[in-house]
Amino acid sequence: MTLPVQDRDPSDIGPDPAENLARIKAELDAALEEAGRPAGSVTVTAVSKQHDAARILPALEAGHRVFGENRVQEAAAKWPDLRERFSDLELRLIGPLQSNKAGDAVALFDVIETVDRPKIAAALAAAIRKQGKTPGLLVQVNTGEEPQKAGIAPADAEAFVAACAREHGLSIDGLMCIPPLDDDPAPHFALLAKLAKTCGLSVLSMGMSADYAIAAQLGATHVRIGAGVFGPRPVRR
Ligand SMILES: *Cc1c(COP(=O)(O)O)cnc(C)c1O
Repeated sequence: MTLPVQDRDPSDIGPDPAENLARIKAELDAALEEAGRPAGSVTVTAVSKQHDAARILPALEAGHRVFGENRVQEAAAKWPDLRERFSDLELRLIGPLQSNKAGDAVALFDVIETVDRPKIAAALAAAIRKQGKTPGLLVQVNTGEEPQKAGIAPADAEAFVAACAREHGLSIDGLMCIPPLDDDPAPHFALLAKLAKTCGLSVLSMGMSADYAIAAQLGATHVRIGAGVFGPRPVRR
């Protein structure tokens, strides 16, 4: 089992995002092998929030194509230029979405991981119809039932996924969660995997810099890694 990022010598996270990605992918493959899952069956979403295009570019140039951003406006400022150069990239929205930004989100993102309430489902459905696009969609589940955190309560997840299809014509691909900061993440990952199975969904976005190996062992198809790829985020102005 690989060490979580916070328990490692910080010098493990080097200055080159491409080298960090290669190391993380090797660690993921080792974790997958231990769990009896095929190598390469977890996609690394490199979370580039708060990093500028110059910092992101080396990862693109090394061939990485899957990136995550948590703010629509920030992504709109950075990614259209990069997409002109790397047309096959996949951009994933991993932060909370306001309904008045649903149109911008559908225009910008290939996958929206944070469908978390009926109002957002309705706004996304309208934007998707209008733009004729078909972004991938995940439902965010608030596995820790934290009052301040976005996401559908675990008990309501199955009904919400069904309502997205029935009431809005939205096809949901999978589930996403952000476990409580101080909890052992494993039970949250296991719960998300169980819910996805109940709902018949195959995509599981779970695991961040500190716990991606555990997430891979518990069935993640996507891990979202920021600091582990790009180093500490610059202080937000
Ligand atoms: C920032 C962020 C991440 C990445 O966090 P790190 O600890 O830097 O890997 C993952 N998921 C979400 C939803 C985030 O906002």
